[in-house]
Amino acid sequence: MMHEHESIALSEPAKRRTKTARISWGSNVVTVGADAPVRIQSMTNTDTVDVIGTAIQVKELAIAGSELVRITVNTPEAAQAVPHIREHLDRMGIDVPLIGDFHYNGHRLLSDYPACAESLSKYRINPGNVGKGDKHDKQFAQMVEVAARLKKAVRIGVNWGSLDQELLASLMDINAKRAKPFEARQVMYEALIQSATQSAQRAVELGLPAEQILLSCKVSGVQDLVAVYRQLALRSTHPLHLGLTEAGMGTKGTVASSVALSLLLQEGIGDTIRVSLTPQPGEARTQEVVIAAEILQSLGMRKFVPSVTACPGCGRTTSTTFQELAKEIDDYLRAQMPVWRAQYPGVENLKVAVMGCIVNGPGESKHADIGISLPGTGEAPAAPVFIDGEKALTLRGEHIAKEFHQLVESYIQKKYSTV
Ligand code: SF4
Repeated sequence: MMHEHESIALSEPAKRRTKTARISWGSNVVTVGADAPVRIQSMTNTDTVDVIGTAIQVKELAIAGSELVRITVNTPEAAQAVPHIREHLDRMGIDVPLIGDFHYNGHRLLSDYPACAESLSKYRINPGNVGKGDKHDKQFAQMVEVAARLKKAVRIGVNWGSLDQELLASLMDINAKRAKPFEARQVMYEALIQSATQSAQRAVELGLPAEQILLSCKVSGVQDLVAVYRQLALRSTHPLHLGLTEAGMGTKGTVASSVALSLLLQEGIGDTIRVSLTPQPGEARTQEVVIAAEILQSLGMRKFVPSVTACPGCGRTTSTTFQELAKEIDDYLRAQMPVWRAQYPGVENLKVAVMGCIVNGPGESKHADIGISLPGTGEAPAAPVFIDGEKALTLRGEHIAKEFHQLVESYIQKKYSTV
C-alpha cells in the first residue's frame, strides 16, 4: 500500500556525459553527444557511382528523418561521384551531412580526390581495415590528417567482422599467460574496445580535436553489444554511435535492434543510432529510419510523428475495419509530417486512438487528443469520437473512416496552426 508521501518514480534514462561533436553541411549543424538529442543515422545501399540514384535515396532517407546519411566510398569512381551527389542534394534543398564509409583504400581516396574529402562532413574509419603492419599507422595517419586539415568529424568504427587481427592476437597472447585466463569472448570485447580507444588517442596525437571523434564497436549479438558498449562508455568520453551490425531482416532484425539499442539507450549510452536492417524484397530503405525513430519515440527520448494508439483487436472485432482505419490514419500522419513539421509546430505530440470496441475504446480514446471507439461485434453500429477527453460526436454509416480522417485534420489545424 502506498503512503501519502510516497510516489512512483519514472525510470528516465540519464544521458552519459560526453564531448559534443559537430557534423555540418552549410548552415545545418548536427550536434552529437552531451545534451544533444540522440541522432538518427542511416546508410544508402545504392552504388555510389550512380549519382542520381544515390542522391534520391539520400533525400528519401533525410525526409524520413535521418539526420546523418552514410554512403560507401570504395573506388576512385565512387570518390569522384561524391561531390556530384552533394551538388544534387544541395540543388534539391537537402542539407543532410554525408558521411563517407572507407575501408582499405580510404587514405588514397581522401588524398587523391580532394573534392570528395571536402563534400563529406564526416569520415568513417575502420581501424581493422586501414592496412597491416607498418602500413596501418601510416595510412591511418593519412586519413586523420585530411580530416584535421578540413575540420571534418571522424568515427572510429570498429566492427567485430573486421577486427584488427594483430591487436586481437597480441591480447590473446597476453591472456594465455595469465594464471586464470579470461574467456576468448572477453578478450575479443577488450580488443574491440582497445582498437577504438587507442585509435582515437592516436588521432588526437595526430592533431584531430578530440571533440570531433566518435566511436563505435559494432557486433551482431545483443548481449555482446550491451557488454561491449557498457565498458566502452566507462572508458571513453567520445560520443558513441550505436548499432547492432548485421541485424538481419524483417521481424528478427527489427526486434534484435530494438532490444539492443533500447537496453543501452535506457542507460544513457548512445549518441547516434542506426538500425542495420536488411531490406526485404520490395521494402523501402527508409524502413531503417522509421524503426530508429520508433525506438527513440517509444523510449520517450524524442518525438517525430503523432502517435496512434490502436488496440490489437480480439474476438469482439470480427471485421478488419478498425485495423484499416488505424493503418490509414497512421500512414496519413506519417505522409504529412514533412509538410506539417513546418506548418504545425508541435504536431508530433498529437495522440490519436483508434480502438476496436466498447471495452477499452472510450477509456483509451479519452486519454488521446482525438480518439474513436469503433463498434465491436454485436454493438450498435455507431462510433463515438472523443476530443480532448470529452465525447464530441458519434459517427455512423458507411463513411466513418473518411469522416474521422477529416476530424483529425481539422483538429490539427485548429490546435497547431500558427496563422
Ligand atoms: S478494445 Fe475491445 S476489440 Fe480492442 S482488444 Fe480490447 S476488447 Fe478487444
